[in-house]
Amino acid sequence: MMTPEEIFQQHLAPTSPFPLGIHIDHARGVYLYDTNGKRYIDLIAGIGVASVGHQNPVVVEAIKKQLDKHAHVMVYGEYIQDSVNGLAAKLASLLPPSLNTCYFVNSGTEANEAAVKLAKRSTGRHKIISFLKSYHGNTQGSMSVSANEVKKQKFRPLIPGVEFIEFNSVEALGAIDMQTAGVIIEPIQGDAGVRISSQEFMTALRKCCDETGAKLIFDEVQTGMGRTGKLFAFEHYSIAPDIITLAKGLGGGLPIGAFVASHEIMQLLADNPMLGHITTFGGNPVCAASALATLNIISEPAFLEAIEPKGQLIEQELQHPEVKVIRRKGLMLAVELENENKVNRLIKYCLEHGVIIYWFLSTRNSFRISPPLTITEGEIKEACGIIKKGLNNL
Ligand code: PLP
Repeated sequence: MMTPEEIFQQHLAPTSPFPLGIHIDHARGVYLYDTNGKRYIDLIAGIGVASVGHQNPVVVEAIKKQLDKHAHVMVYGEYIQDSVNGLAAKLASLLPPSLNTCYFVNSGTEANEAAVKLAKRSTGRHKIISFLKSYHGNTQGSMSVSANEVKKQKFRPLIPGVEFIEFNSVEALGAIDMQTAGVIIEPIQGDAGVRISSQEFMTALRKCCDETGAKLIFDEVQTGMGRTGKLFAFEHYSIAPDIITLAKGLGGGLPIGAFVASHEIMQLLADNPMLGHITTFGGNPVCAASALATLNIISEPAFLEAIEPKGQLIEQELQHPEVKVIRRKGLMLAVELENENKVNRLIKYCLEHGVIIYWFLSTRNSFRISPPLTITEGEIKEACGIIKKGLNNL
C-alpha cells in the first residue's frame, strides 16, 4: 500500500522540487490542520483566495443550498441561473456603470486571456502593452503578456505583438499608440513583490488609453475583492479601467474568474464570429453561489474598513533588523529580507512552527503575506510573534 506521501510524489505532477507537502485534514477560519492534528496559522489563504476564512459558515451554507438545487446544467451563457444572475447583478452594482457586464470563467489566467481577446476584438488592433515584472497567468496568452523571461523561454513561440514597458513610468507610456489594442496592468504588481503604482502614473495611463482608444485592462485577480482595503484596487486611484479581471478571492474558496466590461463591447463576443469566447464550466452555479455569499460579506463597508488597520498592524509587528523593507497595501504584503537564502530558511522555520508564509515566483528576496481578510488582531500578533522568532534565528 502506498502512503499518501508516495501517491503525492508519484501520481501527482509536481510544480517544483520542494512542495510544502503538508497533508491537510481540514481548515477553519485562519487555521489549517494537518492529519497529525498540527495547527497552522494560514497567512497565505491559498494565495489570496480564502478571503473570508476557510469554511466560512455563511459561504458553506450558500454552497450547500445551491448544491441541493443543481450543479452544472449547461455551458456558460445559455440558461438563466439564479446564483450566476445574482453574482453578476451584485458585481455590477459595486462597479462603475461602464463595467456593468460580467463574463464568468474558471480562473485568473482565463479571465486575462479573454480580456486580451476582447481588447483585440473591440479595437480591431493587435498590439498589446504590458509591464516589466508583471504576472498575468500561465496559459499561453497570459504567459505572453507576463514579463518573466526565464519562465517563458522554453515555451516560445508565444503570441506576438506584445511590448513590455517600465511599470510606474509616465515616460514609458509613450509606447501606447493608435495601433495598441489593449494595455494590461496589475494596478499593484503582485508577483513583482507588491509594487504600488503612483497616482500620477495611473492618471497618465488612463489619459493615454483615452487618447489612443486602447482598452485599459486592470488585472485585479490578486488585488481585487478587498485585498488592498478597497473592494477593487482601482478605487485607490479614482479612475476606472475599460475591462477588469477577477479570480482568486472572488470565489470564496471555489474556482471562478470573471472579466467585466461595458455591455456595448461585451456584445461583440456574441457576434461576427458568434461564440467569440466560450467555456463549459465558466460561471458554475455552485461557484457563483459561493462567490455571491463571499461578496456580500466583503462588500460591507465595515468589513472593508477593517482591512487597512490589520495590514498596518502586521507591518508594525514585523519591524525587525532582518527586515529590509515591507511593501504593502491593505492585507497584500511583501516582506523583503537580505537574500533568497534567508527567505527560504524563514519559510521553513515558520512551517515547522505552525505559520504559513510563502514565496513570490519572481521576487526571491521577499516573502508574501496575504491572510484571510477576517484574521483577528490576536491571530496577527501570534503569527507575527512566530515569524519574529524565525527572524531572530536567521
Ligand atoms: N493575474 C494575477 C495578478 C495573479 O496574481 C495570478 C495568479 O497568481 C493570475 C493572474 C493567474 O490566476 P490563476 O492562477 O487563477 O490562473
